[in-house]
Amino acid sequence: MKIDFQKNTDGLVPAIVQDAVTKNVLMLGYMNEEAYNKTIETKKVTFFSRSKKRLWTKGEESGNILNLVDIKSDCDRDSLLVFVNPVGPTCHTGSDTCWDLENKSSFGFLSQLEKVIRNRKENKEDTTSYVASLFRKGINKIAQKVGEEAVEVVIEAKDDNKELFLNESADLLFHYLILLQAKECTLQDIEEILKSRI
Ligand code: AMP
Ligand code: ZN
Ligand code: ZN
Ligand code: ZN
Repeated sequence: MKIDFQKNTDGLVPAIVQDAVTKNVLMLGYMNEEAYNKTIETKKVTFFSRSKKRLWTKGEESGNILNLVDIKSDCDRDSLLVFVNPVGPTCHTGSDTCWDLENKSSFGFLSQLEKVIRNRKENKEDTTSYVASLFRKGINKIAQKVGEEAVEVVIEAKDDNKELFLNESADLLFHYLILLQAKECTLQDIEEILKSRI
């Protein structure tokens, strides 16, 4: 990808960082060619810090790194859109985004769980993980599990044991999140459909 680093005399282009899953805009940084190349090579987002006046790998102190998913330049190649999977909060205030977004998308703990599940999918070979083993078995097995858990919810709905009903509901939701991930879909996708129906 050819980027016009010389447009600004300081050799910097703005880089907008977006969460690859939630699509929330997380932060703005600046990259020079070296920062850009390092980002591509290490798959960890690295800026040129104008205050530190050096390359700055986001998370180098806090551990809250931004794992690179994809990077795109705009129509005239003088700005970047960086898609990431953030590890921890992106803003140094401890917030997940540097902007106080009105329509910020987050399912709280479920978003956390979604990320853990995505991690297991990316590390499918992990033999100690139940979720990884499901991803190894494939989509048919995962879909079958969702079916089984749904039936268990139906059975418990007919009884009046609330604890059993809640436990089976948790099983269903958990396996459904795994199925969404296996299909490369997100809670976000579902939310958009539901919102469009209101
Ligand atoms: P970190 O790169 O997360 O280890 O943070 C190192 C330092 O960079 C912090 O102490 C802040 O001064 C600054 N910093 C971290 N995150 C951001 C951000 N999202 N926007 C601006 N500055 C930041
Ligand atoms: Zn432009
Ligand atoms: Zn911030
Ligand atoms: Zn169950």
